[in-house]
Amino acid sequence: MKALSCKTFEKEIDSFFDDDLDSDDLEAFLAHSESCRDCREELTIRLLIREGLKRLEDGRAFHLGNEYDRMLRTAKNRLKRRFLLQKIAGFSLAFVILAIVTVVVIAIFVLL
Ligand SMILES: [Zn+2]
Repeated sequence: MKALSCKTFEKEIDSFFDDDLDSDDLEAFLAHSESCRDCREELTIRLLIREGLKRLEDGRAFHLGNEYDRMLRTAKNRLKRRFLLQKIAGFSLAFVILAIVTVVVIAIFVLL
């Protein structure tokens, strides 16, 4: 997994909120948010600005700690789902190749 600098992390926060990071970037982003206290604070503040203002408008209560946990949980689930899909896609490809090889081998035996 690639390591993220704090500067890159900060730049990617908006993409993270918009779900614009690819799986590798998202994984690195989440790992950095867990290992770096400063960036976690930055992310929390950005979440507060982003979600807090929205909530003020529609008048619903806003609990920063809960929202933060929920946001990270959602992102992790998303990442897990994506990796799973990649794995399934990988398996399917391997299966298709295996099927083709099998057909070719059978065809060779039948023709000989
Ligand atoms: Zn950092």
